[in-house]
Amino acid sequence: MRSTTNNSLLSEVLTEVMTKEHVTVIKALSKPKHDEDIAATLKLKATVVRTLLNDLHIKNLVEYERSKNKKTGWYTYLWKRRDDKLSAYIQTYLDTKLSDLNRQLAVEADGVKFNCSCDHKRVTLETAMETEFMCPECNSMFIESDSVQIRKKLESEIKRIQKQLK
Ligand SMILES: [Zn+2]
Repeated sequence: MRSTTNNSLLSEVLTEVMTKEHVTVIKALSKPKHDEDIAATLKLKATVVRTLLNDLHIKNLVEYERSKNKKTGWYTYLWKRRDDKLSAYIQTYLDTKLSDLNRQLAVEADGVKFNCSCDHKRVTLETAMETEFMCPECNSMFIESDSVQIRKKLESEIKRIQKQLK
């Protein structure tokens, strides 16, 4: 796996999981910074930056050091990017996604599938037969659906992730 930070893979994954703003904050932390300095650099409100930092903190991708300003008695927070956690996070995310896609692909490859109009259900022939081809949720008929397009989509998504994992 490629080394982390600042590369496009990090941006791609974090944008998928969170937002572009989170990526901007992560990139701004090439070295430790106070939240108000990040806000100034990015021209964002400090409250917005703190929210973004908290989201990243929940995912363990940043950490902070708190210190007390002796004059004002207020706390300041020095934020650091956790480069060690970032690469592991991306690796785990991609691994999980890949196995999920492979599982979906196996389901699709396993015979004909049926859809109903509520679109919540995608079922096997056996399941469709059990309810006499009526969806128990929307009461519409299950209609045989073409797996080919879905399989193609899954396969190209799998290829994309395998490339990212290289
Ligand atoms: Zn339905």
